[in-house]
Amino acid sequence: MIDYLKAHPWKVIESEFKPSNQRISESIFSIGNGKFGQRANFEEHYSGDHHQGSYIAGIYYPDKTKVGWWKNGYPEYFAKVLNSVNWIGLDVHLDQTQLDLNTWSVGSFERILNMKTGLLSRSFVAQAPSGNHKIEVNTERFCSMHNDNIAAVKYSIKLLSEHPVKIDLNSYLDADVENEDTNWEEKFWDHLDAKALGKQGLVHSRTKKTNFEVAVAMTNHIELDGKPLDALNAKSNAGKAESQFSTALNSGQTVTIFKYVALCSDMHFEKDSLKHAARTTSDEASALGYNELFQQHKMAWSTVWQNADIIIEGDEKAQQAIRFNIFHLNQTYTGKDDRLNIGPKGFTGEKYGGSTYWDTEAYCLPFYLNTHDSSTAKQLLVYRYNHLGKAIENAEKLGFNNGAALYPMVTMNGEECHNEWEITFEEIHRNSAIAYGIYNYVKHTGDKGYLADSGFDVLLGICRFWSQRATWSDNKHAFVILGVTGPNEYENNVNNNWYTNYMAKWCLTYTLKVIIYLKANHKKEFEQKVAKYNFEEEKESFRWIEVMEKMYLPKDEERGVFLQQDGFLDKELVPASDLPLEDRPINQKWSWDRILRSVYIKQADTLQGLYFLQNHFDLETIKRNFDFYEPFTVHESSLSPCIHVVLAAMLGYQEKAYEMYLRTARLDLDDYNNEAYQGLHITSMAGTWLSVVEGFGGWRIKKDLPHLDPMLPEKWEAFSFKIMFRGRLLSIRISNEGNQVELLSGEPMDIIVSGERVQLT
Ligand code: BGC
Repeated sequence: MIDYLKAHPWKVIESEFKPSNQRISESIFSIGNGKFGQRANFEEHYSGDHHQGSYIAGIYYPDKTKVGWWKNGYPEYFAKVLNSVNWIGLDVHLDQTQLDLNTWSVGSFERILNMKTGLLSRSFVAQAPSGNHKIEVNTERFCSMHNDNIAAVKYSIKLLSEHPVKIDLNSYLDADVENEDTNWEEKFWDHLDAKALGKQGLVHSRTKKTNFEVAVAMTNHIELDGKPLDALNAKSNAGKAESQFSTALNSGQTVTIFKYVALCSDMHFEKDSLKHAARTTSDEASALGYNELFQQHKMAWSTVWQNADIIIEGDEKAQQAIRFNIFHLNQTYTGKDDRLNIGPKGFTGEKYGGSTYWDTEAYCLPFYLNTHDSSTAKQLLVYRYNHLGKAIENAEKLGFNNGAALYPMVTMNGEECHNEWEITFEEIHRNSAIAYGIYNYVKHTGDKGYLADSGFDVLLGICRFWSQRATWSDNKHAFVILGVTGPNEYENNVNNNWYTNYMAKWCLTYTLKVIIYLKANHKKEFEQKVAKYNFEEEKESFRWIEVMEKMYLPKDEERGVFLQQDGFLDKELVPASDLPLEDRPINQKWSWDRILRSVYIKQADTLQGLYFLQNHFDLETIKRNFDFYEPFTVHESSLSPCIHVVLAAMLGYQEKAYEMYLRTARLDLDDYNNEAYQGLHITSMAGTWLSVVEGFGGWRIKKDLPHLDPMLPEKWEAFSFKIMFRGRLLSIRISNEGNQVELLSGEPMDIIVSGERVQLT
């Protein structure tokens, strides 16, 4: 764990420079705008350990799979989100000594992420190793949320030492970058063009194999004490374009460089107009000027915060944490493009390949559904619909037929690109999360028409998969699902994971209901789908009903709990609290076989099912299962604590809920799992939002009616959040003095607050 970041309601503040924290801070202070983003690297050269990372959404490379022992069915590649042009680069030399915080002595230092305005800033005083030069540097940058092709940097240097110096500033774009996680030490880019002329520069590159093209242009503007300076020189070579400036700097004088950058890719521009688009966009940004660009950006953030902010009174750390999570979610995904999704690390690191996981539907969807117009969340559904063909191909490769769809565990473009057999082939529960996402969307928005448009298509493919994947056991006289990995990845190749079986059964039940609805309300569309997919309704649904009714669900009658999988009770049932501290986290301390044999649970598994389908179970059942499983759970997945908060709050376990809340909310800010250096846990940030709104707020939609069942954590004086629900904006404040629910806009509606029906007008 770390504790070097200061608490503040709207800011994350680092006030001391420690090279050993650099990678962690680079992740935490990352900025982005849904289309591109980057780690909080220094603009100037830094020779210490760090991870230079700049990423463009949707631009990936199929890195050839590397495994020790090839297994049939493995995907050919693992899609990597690509480290792309370093557009912040600025080399600074004072009398030919290069500014480098690794070798200079750093006096005061402050790095601030202002979450309200989306601005990353840094200021420091540094002295050259010779002791001759001392400067004060102030830098700022942002990735515009208003115009998501634009970014801007402002970098000022003031000479503090007495003697005048010659200062050389070299502002550059560098496309010659590598991924840290490359499998074969390959470079992923071909450089097509690099040009620099005066204050302008451009690099144009193409990804190998996938042929994505990216053009990045910069227009620099430099001032000495407010007076513009011309570029001295411009240079370009393979993948790099530089504009060079030079001036004499007297003591007390300040030189400032404004760098306007445009990032354009062929995801959004025609290939042959790409360079032109980048150039004109960076010039236009420069003409508008830094302040105006920033105002636009700030306004865009203010709109986001209007609907998405959560206010926690009386607990600054909790306040900072929830905003940190909301901030990152919004700068990772904006819902503007149905080809994009939410990578577990967003734009903050390379682990997980930047692709799409079940995290999106299981954890992120509710956040976007409740804090944005419903079109944002719908894009996530459309993304899966567009990948249906690939999911069917994926299932075919594994021996399924008749349009059965197995969605990938990890994907960029619909193809599976994960290659650990126990996950790729076995963690098939992801299919149900995708169906659950559709159910959740319809429940929240009331948009049943989506089922007729595209929802049914996806549900059909998923049900066809489950009906084939479940097999009959004469021994058990039931359908079983063998050889799976449940959400708890600390168990592999188990039989009858309760969560997988129960969710498969639910998919079949839900889809059968959807069919009844479609036949009654969208007959024509349904008939078209029947023809399109050769759906033999009678025969296929007969099988579904059989599987659904006779699905095996392991249970321990004596304890009254569902069993995570067959044989779970044979394990040594020693609670995680008995583990010596030095053994934690077990995934960093224990051998894999020891983990697999143990009872320890990486993340909510049976409890995940109880969370999703809580309306199927009474409180007593949820309590018995929570009391049984929670003590064995080590929460070594970031996705775990949030589900425990929601359930604990529901069960009135206030302390547990709060303990788990801190763990999910400050997971990265306090670096609970010692891995923030690899990037942030973006998808689990949505779980933090769930913890507050569904957990402490008790927000649910039941039978088309919103419910609130709030509980106020002892440490908080009050908390407030907003909800977008079917064209309305609600504002909710929970405090000891009482609960306030206000309809800020939209039609009157009813809501149940702590069991009482209230009309909002
Ligand atoms: C979790 C998975 C999750 C993945 C990406 C893993 O550690 O166990 O459930 O999908 O991380 O967030």
